[in-house]
Amino acid sequence: MRIIMLGPPGAGKGTQAKKLSEEFNILQVSTGDIFRKAVQENTPMGMRAKEYMSKGLLVPDEIVVGIVEERLKQPDLAEGFILDGFPRTISQAESLEQILHKNGMSLNAVINIQVSRDGLIERFTGRRVCKSCGASYHIKYNPPKTPGICDICGKELVIRPDDELETVKKRLKEYEQKTTPLIEFYRKRHLLINIDGEKPIDEVYRDIVDSLR
Ligand code: ADP
Ligand code: ADP
Ligand code: ADP
Repeated sequence: MRIIMLGPPGAGKGTQAKKLSEEFNILQVSTGDIFRKAVQENTPMGMRAKEYMSKGLLVPDEIVVGIVEERLKQPDLAEGFILDGFPRTISQAESLEQILHKNGMSLNAVINIQVSRDGLIERFTGRRVCKSCGASYHIKYNPPKTPGICDICGKELVIRPDDELETVKKRLKEYEQKTTPLIEFYRKRHLLINIDGEKPIDEVYRDIVDSLR
């Protein structure tokens, strides 16, 4: 199965992608996680990406597409994948079509998680992420078993620097301008599945699983 998670920042893409990945045994590919890891490791790509991420801007298409193209070639993704946070521009979506076509692959579904702006702001405010595995928690809606510690890997949870309100506003603007056109792009291709992301995590998850049957 090949799935894309679409939706504004903070909608729950990563949270749902992780659950799907565990239950269906398909790997999650998160471009945000790839960039954060590169930033942590101070690689040249990470240093370039950080300039954009810290300002709430999208990283330029040519950087992102190169990374995804390399990743999708790996044999561990031959059976399927969940793309979380990619594509985010029409140009990225067109590149993805070409990459998949070249490899004789096609998409099964694009899950569009919809959340109101107020709902999104509340999610950023309470989001805590694992430094090590990228798992996402919420102090109110999805707290870890031990405060401040990741359930999965036992490492420390931190606030993402780009979850600060001013940066969040820029990220939402980038989403409106550059990512919302993808809704129409995938609707036309009969791949779009709209999901009400306002419900609790487990209900959203059930709706997604039902929609994939
Ligand atoms: P969120 O989960 O809140 O939407 P991500 O973790 O997906 O955020 O992305 C964090 C940042 O990484 C983005 O604000 C952007 O700077 C960069 N990024 C991630 N994926 C992409 C992409 N497909 N295209 C451009 N930039 C990206
Ligand atoms: P995205 O990857 O789309 O940026 P995340 O999966 O990181 O979003 O979720 C953003 C924040 O909202 C996290 O703190 C997460 O725990 C929380 N969250 C995710 N889904 C829900 C939900 N359905 N209800 C309440 N909080 C949620
Ligand atoms: P507002 O009145 O605050 O603009 P909207 O309902 O128009 O409320 O949009 C709220 C948020 O949901 C916006 O940040 C936007 O990015 C996002 N959004 C709007 N329409 C969609 C959609 N069809 N799919 C996914 N996200 C959407």
